[in-house]
Amino acid sequence: MNFIDVEPTLENYWRAIILFGKNTASYKFALAKSLIDISLERDSDLISLEDLALPNALHLCEHLKHSPKQITVKSSTFLEACLNFNNGLISKTDLIDITRKKGFRNVLDAFHVVNTKAVNERFFDVIDEHFFIDERKHNKGIRLTDNLFKLFYVFDNSADNLNQETEARWNLVEKAWALNMNKNLLSVEYDDATKQLFTKDASYRRTDITSSRGALNGYQKSRCFYCFTPISIASHDTMLADVDHFFPHTLKPQVANAGCCRPVNVDGVWNLVLSCTDCNRGEHGKFAQVPALQLLQRLHTRNEYLINSHHPLRETLIMQTGKNERARQYFLQKSFNFSKERLIHNWQPTPKASPLF
Ligand SMILES: [Zn+2]
Repeated sequence: MNFIDVEPTLENYWRAIILFGKNTASYKFALAKSLIDISLERDSDLISLEDLALPNALHLCEHLKHSPKQITVKSSTFLEACLNFNNGLISKTDLIDITRKKGFRNVLDAFHVVNTKAVNERFFDVIDEHFFIDERKHNKGIRLTDNLFKLFYVFDNSADNLNQETEARWNLVEKAWALNMNKNLLSVEYDDATKQLFTKDASYRRTDITSSRGALNGYQKSRCFYCFTPISIASHDTMLADVDHFFPHTLKPQVANAGCCRPVNVDGVWNLVLSCTDCNRGEHGKFAQVPALQLLQRLHTRNEYLINSHHPLRETLIMQTGKNERARQYFLQKSFNFSKERLIHNWQPTPKASPLF
């Protein structure tokens, strides 16, 4: 089994905190988004719990408006306060007060704890680089570290990219809880026009889940899937990534006509990667060619990684590609054969940086 090589960059520490591991509540996402907000408008390193409380609670209030399920346990005083605030039953001052007392329980302590998953055993680990220091005991607040400012203030586009990834992960988690994705056979697919991942319920009603770029970039770490050149998911950026169908989209009508066995469901999330524009549609781009076998292996590794890291799309990927790794390998091989027989040509890019996944 291959896992992502962990690089000691601040971005990857941040991703390790936000994007991997099992979630039982969404508070970590609210705190992460508050830290991003605060790092962009800093005047002091020391942030009182009171000052942290409002952005933190407001992020949760926003999400509660469209996704009432934010925890896997039955109730929470903090969430109730957010709901009451949304319904005009308590004031902003009350909200801040309850958040200060109840909203950070376990969240500040656990923020830097990353659930690292080995093949068959789990172990918990605190990461080396911290984005804040817990000073609740002496200073009634937290002290932001240089890491946070370096990450969000200094690096171009980090705030945009990581904010979107955090939002995408939050959306995935809350939608998975709301839709009970683990129990229902729901499939998550991609809409080329809106770049959204969506799902359909039993009566074919569509629910948008989240932006596909945000959801895919956590694994790719702002690198093109094919050539590893830097990409961005910020909409105004010149390096904005294309959402690419690994097995080309042109297969779709052929899939519909294949009748018997539905070998390639090209809009499934298993088949989506982020690509630089050169690889997707540049002079020597992929267009409607079939990626080489080495790239197929890379796709398999990516899907296996998501499945093994408790990603919210785990069940979707399993449903789309197979129950165990062997079945999934067979599925990819079958999809490869199907594509190759129809599209004939293999494609491979020149790597622009050393492989990161
Ligand atoms: Zn590329």
